[in-house]
Amino acid sequence: MTVAEVIVDVPTMQTNRPFEYDVPSNLSEVVEPGMRVEVPFGRGKRKIQGFVMKLKNTSDFKGKLKPIDRVIDLRPVLSSEMLDLSSWLANRTYSFQISCLQTMLPNVMRAKYHQLVIPKDDDDSENQKLFQGQDNIEVTSQMSDETIRLINRLKRQDKVEIEYVVENKASQIKRQAITTTLNPIQLREKRNELRSNAKAQLKLVNYLIDNLNNLPIELSTLSSEGINRAAIKTAEKNDILSVVEVTKRRKPVGVTPEKTTKMDLSEEQSQAVDQINQAIDSKEAKTFLIEGVTGSGKTEVYLQTIDRAVTENKTALMLVPEISLTPQMVNRVTGRFGNKVAVLHSGLSSGERYDEWTRIENGSVQVVVGARSAIFAPLKNIGLIIIDEEHEASYKQDDNPRYHARDVALWRAKKHNCPVVLGSATPSLESRARAQKGVYQLINMKKRINQQPLPHVQIVDMRDSENSAVKGDLSPLLQDKLWRVLKRHEQAIILLNRRGYSSFMMCRECGFVLKCPNCDVSLTYHKDLGKMKCHYCGHEEEVPETCPQCHSKKIGFYGTGTQNLERQLNELLPEARILRMDVDTTRRKGAHAKILKQFGDQNADILLGTQMIAKGLDFPNVTLVGVVNADTTLSLSDYRASERTFQLLTQASGRAGRADKSGNVIIQTFNPDHYAIKDAAVQDYETFYKQEMYLRHQANYTPYYFTTLISVSHKDEGQTLKQAYWLKRQLTTALSDSAILLGPSPTMVSRKQNKYYYQIIVKYKHEPKLHQKLLEILNDTQADTKKGFTVAIDNEPQHID
Ligand code: ADP
Ligand code: ZN
Ligand code: ZN
Repeated sequence: MTVAEVIVDVPTMQTNRPFEYDVPSNLSEVVEPGMRVEVPFGRGKRKIQGFVMKLKNTSDFKGKLKPIDRVIDLRPVLSSEMLDLSSWLANRTYSFQISCLQTMLPNVMRAKYHQLVIPKDDDDSENQKLFQGQDNIEVTSQMSDETIRLINRLKRQDKVEIEYVVENKASQIKRQAITTTLNPIQLREKRNELRSNAKAQLKLVNYLIDNLNNLPIELSTLSSEGINRAAIKTAEKNDILSVVEVTKRRKPVGVTPEKTTKMDLSEEQSQAVDQINQAIDSKEAKTFLIEGVTGSGKTEVYLQTIDRAVTENKTALMLVPEISLTPQMVNRVTGRFGNKVAVLHSGLSSGERYDEWTRIENGSVQVVVGARSAIFAPLKNIGLIIIDEEHEASYKQDDNPRYHARDVALWRAKKHNCPVVLGSATPSLESRARAQKGVYQLINMKKRINQQPLPHVQIVDMRDSENSAVKGDLSPLLQDKLWRVLKRHEQAIILLNRRGYSSFMMCRECGFVLKCPNCDVSLTYHKDLGKMKCHYCGHEEEVPETCPQCHSKKIGFYGTGTQNLERQLNELLPEARILRMDVDTTRRKGAHAKILKQFGDQNADILLGTQMIAKGLDFPNVTLVGVVNADTTLSLSDYRASERTFQLLTQASGRAGRADKSGNVIIQTFNPDHYAIKDAAVQDYETFYKQEMYLRHQANYTPYYFTTLISVSHKDEGQTLKQAYWLKRQLTTALSDSAILLGPSPTMVSRKQNKYYYQIIVKYKHEPKLHQKLLEILNDTQADTKKGFTVAIDNEPQHID
């Protein structure tokens, strides 16, 4: 007898364990771990999906096991490594194993797709019987067991292959194009029949004759050649051509990079490369932390160590914070490794994502670059994992399972016996502290490439009378520097540090702030819609003309938005070409890359934007970076506020003076003496680190303490609080005196989508009973989900708000 252990797709605590099912004899050669199956569940006839975790020959179950009904996948969609990982992840993140399994699959596998069986050998007699002359057959739930078994046997004998076909129109774009069946001679005859004043027709036919090799030709191409629709219609009527639909595969975002070759390494680079390569060669699951100033050439270190892994026939996995923001990094990797690279990111349609996933799974690629979820890429034989800008908060998922990609990377590295490289100019305090303790190996890169000096940074005190007197947001010094940059035909980046709540409406008469009726936040103005909108629930309303409270006309916009700043820049420097990059201008797919390319091609003088322009950009002609309001992130209630501010300012400053021209940075602030700002100005990570560690120590925060955040929400505030206090009592019973329990307290935005949010923070060093208690809490609060409660447990939260 064969028994399958199955994790079923019912996300509750009670079902968060494998269930045993009988594998009926007709499926015994079919079912494998990592496949999804359909099984009966509970009383009644309910059929649900599940993942086969394991096959075995015995069962301790006394009664009769229910049989598996049907296999959904004809080949495993998750490897045994991923199955193991899911158990670990569920435990670590206090989430259900089924959510972890689902998270690892590319989303297309969670949606609709077809499975096609394709013969590898057309002459094989069994294949001929199965396919009966068809190119392929589709696997359906109606297919008989015999057929399924036959397909499986043929698959094992390598006579057929299984392909997943995504039913996703998004991966394909249909375009109109022209084609013709006429040959050049016939076309010339047609041309001779045309009247000499039929200029448009002549042009079209000549174009066709010249481009017969490029058929079909898209209408958009024709229109850029000055051939219009009317001409095409006429030609169609005259049987010269026909209009057809063509499908065009969408290419992933980004420009096609130039091929690059290895650079001669600097002293610091080659020391870094040597150490990492040695760990690759000796298969050591060691973690390196590269603390390298901006412009020290970390990327070349990544590329040459990836190269080592690839040369040794291993694979490499590289994570970047958010691909659309770092097209340059992706180009550098694809530029070096060409079609050995797969790129995974959220901007891909599910079809594209699936294609990349398949290329990885079947071993067609050796290098994977992607954002957070790429850490689950089905690579085999991993030789190196790199996490660039390792301090970025985006490596932690905000929803269940709340995993940190760094933790998963360390887990996989152990499995594959390979090194992990964490790189940053501003490492997270946690990672730097681990390097201090010798858990990670620290690699310092203190010099910029070619001895290029760090940019010259000036801090502008906005409290000064000279600065506070100016109208608008740009200090006289920043105005002057901008003007000089334009005169020299160089480029500038202007960063607006904002928290997201800018351009809200306030009445200057009575202080009324326009807020969302459902959430406890102010509405923000969206220019495209011409409306006020809520960030959390999407509520929209018209811009009020008068104050709803006192009816004064003095209601207006507050907060410095990028649009506002753009206007100020336009007034100040009318001749400057300005590009704005913020949530409004980058909503469309590929918009980031387009703006960055325009700037890179020097078709603009000033790039103005929010946080998204601070990262990883390398533009040689940028000689000035201006930070308009350095303080906003300092005022966050989060204990990481200083760290985030330091990171942002250091990263932003690092964008200036990266090539042969020297760079200037202007930081405008109301807190010129704050250590995060002063240390960022001189790019002195180590001094910042020491000061910040001291303060974290004083306040008992990470990395001196572990932190867990438990939040609860419900429509009724009283109920929320009651549940929160119950949770607190539960936690108290499991904790020793040395643990610190904070809360319950309302979150910064305490009401979202008509629900109230309260949170409890546990800070601790060693609490052996806590883990079990949290699992119990997860279990106990499950039943309350029906009553509208949500309880979330966040292990090592990235934000506390
Ligand atoms: P980081 O990621 O550390 O900020 P980059 O990897 O972007 O730095 O490198 C900064 C610049 O120096 C890039 O333009 C890069 O092409 C160049 N560079 C890196 N290594 C070398 C080298 N060994 N020789 C010459 N130029 C280099
Ligand atoms: Zn709202
Ligand atoms: Zn008012």
